[in-house]
Amino acid sequence: MKERPTFPARLDFTVGKPKASRPATGHAHSVLSQGGRPPVGVLSQGVGLDSSAVRMNMVHKLAGQGITDPLVLAAMRTIERHRFVDSALVNQAYEDTSLPIGLGQTISKPGVVSRMAELLRNGASGRLGRVLEIGTGCGYQAAVLSLLAQEVYSIERLRGLHDKARENLRHLRLANLHLLFGDGMAGYAKGAPYAAIIAAAGGESVPQAWVDQLAMGGRLVAPVSAGATAAGQQALVVIDKTPQGIRQTVLEAVHFVPLKSGIA
Ligand code: SAH
Repeated sequence: MKERPTFPARLDFTVGKPKASRPATGHAHSVLSQGGRPPVGVLSQGVGLDSSAVRMNMVHKLAGQGITDPLVLAAMRTIERHRFVDSALVNQAYEDTSLPIGLGQTISKPGVVSRMAELLRNGASGRLGRVLEIGTGCGYQAAVLSLLAQEVYSIERLRGLHDKARENLRHLRLANLHLLFGDGMAGYAKGAPYAAIIAAAGGESVPQAWVDQLAMGGRLVAPVSAGATAAGQQALVVIDKTPQGIRQTVLEAVHFVPLKSGIA
């Protein structure tokens, strides 16, 4: 691909540059040429400036795909997606693709994260109030949401991913993001009512608990299978809770991991 980000190449360049804080032995160079990829410690030192340029490129593409909400674009520019994926996948972190995050789950494509965030915000001028996310996964979308809302509650049913998200998010110190371990099918009543609810896993229908926990005037965005499109296909569904009742809109087809019951 012609447009492939210059991320890995620039990364190598940065890492290879002598730095005052490292002994100028050429050690970093030899590690690089053997492994083809800098070790994680070196990566996190060298990646700063360069990854922001690659992220900016990603944001331009998102804008080109029709994302217009300035807060969403700013959040996508700010949160470093490469910190949420396995080091072996770092050079794909800013491509518009979902990537494995372990335990059979995936981090959503930036295009889908920003699309859902924009739908969720529904043109709000400032930050949303309280938001509930079902399916923390690696924590990337939760981090994005934390910049778009006053409080974010994110729930994950797999202990391994809940722990991984905590680890991934530690450096960001997002005081308004609350990670919960549990079955998100039941929502999280203690944080209700929510201005917005977003699901990162798709079920046959939207659990009633989510609709119940939505504030009046609130919006829910979720991938849903049954009845939405042809059998077995998922589509994004938007549910608005209005004084006149529940309004449901079915949007484009999507591919999310399944919403499952219980914890593991
Ligand atoms: N937003 C995540 C996407 C993770 S994939 C990210 O940015 O990485 C969806 C996640 O939903 C998976 O981790 C899966 O384990 C989780 N999930 C599925 N059913 C769930 C449920 N009932 N409660 C909580 N999490 C659930």
